[in-house]
Amino acid sequence: MIVELIGKEAGLTFECMHIVPGRGDCSRIHPHFHYVDVLVDGEFDDKRRIVHLYNLKAVIKRICSLFEDKILLADYPESVQKVTEEVLHYRIEINNKLYIIPKTDIFKIKSPSLNIEDLTVYFANELALDLKNKEMFNPLNYFEITLSEGHGQRGKIRIESK
Ligand SMILES: [Zn+2]
Repeated sequence: MIVELIGKEAGLTFECMHIVPGRGDCSRIHPHFHYVDVLVDGEFDDKRRIVHLYNLKAVIKRICSLFEDKILLADYPESVQKVTEEVLHYRIEINNKLYIIPKTDIFKIKSPSLNIEDLTVYFANELALDLKNKEMFNPLNYFEITLSEGHGQRGKIRIESK
């Protein structure tokens, strides 16, 4: 049986900014409004549930809150983006421009890029880890997350529990 959370209706959303390597509009710092749809597949438990939806939402909201109102910084190669950590700031050289941004405004994400593909993988891995820690993953067969970045663009991935 499948149970789904529709991100827009369930409040599983976050807004963040990024700069991606290149020349076009995306080479400037710009925002995205994201929402996350989640699908879980599993068997009924003794309480006639596949998953505790309240707890699942709480886990997803925690991950969303990491991104909320932050500027994302990924691990691009130094030939593409040079990041120097200072006491209070990151000094970021990208697209022949220099940004000096307070650390408090940055979410340094362990990801090779900020493409929707890599963001979706990152989000799914975080969710898998959280669900495992809460012993919520094993009873499931798999979950799928769909991460939308607006403009009709989204990434989707399935993570098997076994
Ligand atoms: Zn973008």
